[in-house]
Amino acid sequence: MRQISLHDTASGEVRPLVPRRQGHVGIYACGPTVYSRIHLGNARPFVVFSLMKRFLEHQGLDTTLVINVTDVNDKIYVAARVAGLPSAQLAAELTAAYVADTDALGIGRPDHEPLASQTMDEIVAYIQALIDSDHAYAVAYEAGEGAGEGTGSGEGVSEGQAPGEAAQDVFFRVRSDSQYGALSHRRIEDMNQGEGVEGSARKHDPLDFALWKARKADEDTWWPSPWGDGRPGWHIECSAMAETLLGAGLDIHGGGSDLIFPHHENEASQTRAARGRELADMWVHNGMIQATGEKMAKSVGNIAPLWEVIERYGQHAVVMYLISGHYRQPLAYSQSALQQAQANVSRIREAGRRLAPGPSPQALGVLRERFFDALADDFNTPEALSAVNAWIRAAADPAHGPDVGDEDLRLMLGVLGLEELLDASAEAPAEVHELVAQREQARMERDFAAADTLRERLAELGWEVRDGASGPTVVARD
Ligand SMILES: [Zn+2]
Repeated sequence: MRQISLHDTASGEVRPLVPRRQGHVGIYACGPTVYSRIHLGNARPFVVFSLMKRFLEHQGLDTTLVINVTDVNDKIYVAARVAGLPSAQLAAELTAAYVADTDALGIGRPDHEPLASQTMDEIVAYIQALIDSDHAYAVAYEAGEGAGEGTGSGEGVSEGQAPGEAAQDVFFRVRSDSQYGALSHRRIEDMNQGEGVEGSARKHDPLDFALWKARKADEDTWWPSPWGDGRPGWHIECSAMAETLLGAGLDIHGGGSDLIFPHHENEASQTRAARGRELADMWVHNGMIQATGEKMAKSVGNIAPLWEVIERYGQHAVVMYLISGHYRQPLAYSQSALQQAQANVSRIREAGRRLAPGPSPQALGVLRERFFDALADDFNTPEALSAVNAWIRAAADPAHGPDVGDEDLRLMLGVLGLEELLDASAEAPAEVHELVAQREQARMERDFAAADTLRERLAELGWEVRDGASGPTVVARD
């Protein structure tokens, strides 16, 4: 088996992957916070870690991929107020939209997709463990908003606070973890939790961050806890979801590089504090999508909704685009980058039509191996794609005869989530198959004018009919 290496943010090095349980790999990647439809930037970790799982499985490693959904968050309350919806309803609708939007990529789903709202017992127990070990502390929520005094819409899951029972915030004591900052390589003095002024007066130290937030009067979703009604902070949600499904010490923790600090630093610290061990053996981060010629902060790529980009360029081109650069690097978003991906997809599809089902020539095996070697070396997808293109060029050499077998190409495309490019008719909708059948009927009846009209109609719909010895096939015109 190949040695597989990945870049680990914590050590700053490309390190060999050594699964803690032989033959098994657990990956946890942070998924979206569902306060709006997801954008192209959210799709990058989804694609990178889904395809990494495919590669590891191909290498004989039984891989479990967990990508969570953060459906309890400040941003969701704000978006729900703007939309005039109960926050739980908005989160449920946008979770369903996220599933539909990522389904449209056609690369399958993670093994587990836990919701923060459904992991509440584990989250509360985790916070309790941190309090018990003195890594966290509860302080009374004091603001005049009066948590629990019942101006919420009553959609919560508890009956509300008992009279006189004060709600509390719980904060993590950052300086209680001597290794805090080890993941993001920052000095403790340079860290700002990004929580603004919220709770700042009640924190023992400005570095501390919230594990549990007492319910505010205008928050309509809350849970009961030993500290009164409230809801968890973002970071503790992930520590609890990751540990519940994969256990502390999981093999690969992934996510976008924008999450390294504070989110992942805080996840790592919580687990060290509560469990006395590291949450993950390796921390693997993907780069951001950036608009070309614009500042990073407000990049168009992070605004363009995924569904819109898929509708415009097609699912395969979007996957192709997302793997066209090395996962660690920023990826430039532009119309020409997407069009280039479309052209690459067309070239592969066209090459596939010249191949026959079955084993590929042995001489091409070296290119197939180059593909897998590239992925084994820090998941280098651009190198792997160049091996695919080299294979396609080599397969066209007349020396291999007329019916070159497609097995190698199918294997490589399968790992990249692009195997459908070899299935000429797979994507044609029922309407298209119906028109093809009508055209066959017209041809049998020697009504060639009708047959031509139907061919034109199919072309308008984006499909080309090709008549072969075994009957017509229909291929996408892209
Ligand atoms: Zn997370």
